[in-house]
Amino acid sequence: SSQAKQQTHNPCPPHAVCIPYPAQGHINPMLKLAKLLHHKGFHITFINTEFNHRRLLKSQGHHSISGTPSFRFETIPDGLPPSEFDATQDIPALCHSILHNFLNPFRVLLAKLNPPVTCIVSDVGMGFTVKVAEELGIPDVFFNTASASGFMGYMQYPKLMENGLTPLKDTSYLTNGYLDTVIDWIPGMNGIRLKDLPSFIRTTEPSDIMIDFILDVAHNAHKASAIIFNTFNALEHDVLEGLSTMLPPIYTLGPLQSLLNQIPQNHLNTIGSSLWKEQHDCLPWLDSKEPDSVVYVNFGSITVMTSQQLIEFAWGLVNSKKTFLWVIRPDLVVGDSAILPPDFVNETKERGLLASWCPQEQVLNHPSVGGFLTHCGWNSTLESICSGVPMLCWPFFAEQQTNCWLCCKEWGIGMEINSDVKREEVESLITELMGGGEKGKEMKRKVTGWKKLGEEATASSVGPSYLDFEKVVNCVLKS
Ligand code: UDP
Repeated sequence: SSQAKQQTHNPCPPHAVCIPYPAQGHINPMLKLAKLLHHKGFHITFINTEFNHRRLLKSQGHHSISGTPSFRFETIPDGLPPSEFDATQDIPALCHSILHNFLNPFRVLLAKLNPPVTCIVSDVGMGFTVKVAEELGIPDVFFNTASASGFMGYMQYPKLMENGLTPLKDTSYLTNGYLDTVIDWIPGMNGIRLKDLPSFIRTTEPSDIMIDFILDVAHNAHKASAIIFNTFNALEHDVLEGLSTMLPPIYTLGPLQSLLNQIPQNHLNTIGSSLWKEQHDCLPWLDSKEPDSVVYVNFGSITVMTSQQLIEFAWGLVNSKKTFLWVIRPDLVVGDSAILPPDFVNETKERGLLASWCPQEQVLNHPSVGGFLTHCGWNSTLESICSGVPMLCWPFFAEQQTNCWLCCKEWGIGMEINSDVKREEVESLITELMGGGEKGKEMKRKVTGWKKLGEEATASSVGPSYLDFEKVVNCVLKS
């Protein structure tokens, strides 16, 4: 048969090992990329930490992540002491462990995989993988799951340090206006201030773990065979052009979900990557609401806040009189369980739904959702754009500050909420967001335009993201 013939020509399929940074916002897009590669004929091994794998077994069920013969899951230890099962791990501790404990288990695992591994696709944060790729003589393509602008911000860390702009002299620099300093040398990011750059520069520590980690990322980026971005040309054109002169070849494949939507439904569709169990009851609830009437509130997987901040958001929502879906992760409030005032619960019984985790892309795509109050994680930002939903931005950390700047200043699809959040501001911005004023209407118009450009970027056979995917597969991963 022709199949047997093909097998004699090519006895082993290409085998890609995909290894995300071990956090929700990295696992989700890496799984999408892995599914796309599988569709191109790759055998896939997807590597999670043991900790996250156990969480996925619980949230997704065994059947979902037992994989198939050509799409397998493997694990490596994260080198951290045992931590609370359902809570987000300590990011600096995780970064420290990645720099020191991951290389050897990764090397040992790859040596025993079959068919032999022919390429590695690793998160930019998992740069130790290049060592193993070199040993095996195979390509290592990095995947940056953040915005290109966020990555550009990280790439500036060496220069920011050389110029003495970080670490800060003392903590007064956090509040004395210093962070308003405009940085004028970054390609494609005119007018960017220190406060808009990824937040790890806001330290006074001469040897801060996060700074060390980012310096390592920036250093390793030069050793990648290529770097994939989950964004699209029209969205971050100038920054992408800047990056392309600084780095190994870059490929822009976003929005990955739009590429994924083009491949036929198959048995991999049931493989999910939510670390928390999704509550699907919010979908029928949304069905019962008017188009564009619901404010969706979700701060992602890592953000934490004080109970006072939670209460300010709560009263802002009450006073806006809007209908809302608010996802409050069990560990959202620092050192405490989230306790909402009894009056809040009474006042919003009819028009508010609380959940602890939801199928976010389905929620954002629901016609009832009219606005998104978000922490500006890159996945959330891109998912919001793909759904044509304007945003209120309350960035927490990492490159979320840069994404907030993009939404508010570059794209006109968001409004920022002060980090010291107050209920009056939440109320008035929600009113604006939900079409109460000219600005709200304009944001809706603009985000609809970006959504359309995202669809064009991934259009079959012609879109730049579609074509870049073909190229990175054929010219790098299969070469
Ligand atoms: N997410 C979800 N349900 C939730 C909250 C988040 O499915 O209730 C998903 C969301 O769609 C996104 C990811 O988790 O893909 C969060 O990534 P993001 O980059 O937005 O933020 P992070 O969690 O990394 O801060």
